[in-house]
Amino acid sequence: MVNCNNNSSGYERKRTLKQRSRKRKNHMILRLISVAAVIGLLWYCINGLNLKEVSPEPILSVGTGNSNVSSASIEKNNNDETSWCLILVNRWNAIPEDYDIDLTELSNGQAVDTRIYPALQNMFDAARADGVYPVVASGYRTAEKQQSLMEEKIATYQAEGYTVSQAKAEAETWVAIPGTSEHQLGIAVDINADGVKSNGSEVYKWLKQNGYRFGFILRYPPSKTEITGVSNEPWHYRYVGIEAATEMNDQNLCLEEYLRERD
Ligand SMILES: [Zn+2]
Repeated sequence: MVNCNNNSSGYERKRTLKQRSRKRKNHMILRLISVAAVIGLLWYCINGLNLKEVSPEPILSVGTGNSNVSSASIEKNNNDETSWCLILVNRWNAIPEDYDIDLTELSNGQAVDTRIYPALQNMFDAARADGVYPVVASGYRTAEKQQSLMEEKIATYQAEGYTVSQAKAEAETWVAIPGTSEHQLGIAVDINADGVKSNGSEVYKWLKQNGYRFGFILRYPPSKTEITGVSNEPWHYRYVGIEAATEMNDQNLCLEEYLRERD
């Protein structure tokens, strides 16, 4: 029995020693794993940073509001054939200072960017063929013209009893702040009825249904006021090209949304 006990205690001691050395081994393995993990983490961080540094994506941050999206879009489309007609100008995105424009004068004295003239003519021909008679009430505008329109609108609201700041705020929802009007680009037109053969609602209805086929979009739909920053203007049409206009019409997107989706 004693022997047996002795034997058994000797066996126990051996087991304890074995366990200790196994524990030590395990401890070493754990330490090695931790060191490997730290090295791996460091390697990952360094490589991650390197990837970010060589990323080809342009990082743009200009101005406020929607400008990040739009600047990126303009940048991205710079080499694109259609970039000129997808330029975004709104209250958050002023016209570039070096913006160049070549005008074509219309028969009633208004003018538009030469590049949109054929599409505008085609659209008007198609409308007349359908018995609808539109006229271009306003095409290209200079910055001075835009400024005087703004002043007139503010004065109108002040005459109605608004304070100066109220009148200014109200006017700015109807008239674009000079430097931010699409009319200064020459690729937007206010279209009204001739007032004899057609009335306004006939013309607006026809344009809304058919404008996109000629590359023109209703620029400020009533449902998109918060995105465009402009109240409903059923007469204001903007040229974006047939492809973009069709997509925007099919998906019910305003220009801001369309450009954001393209990013
Ligand atoms: Zn307009």
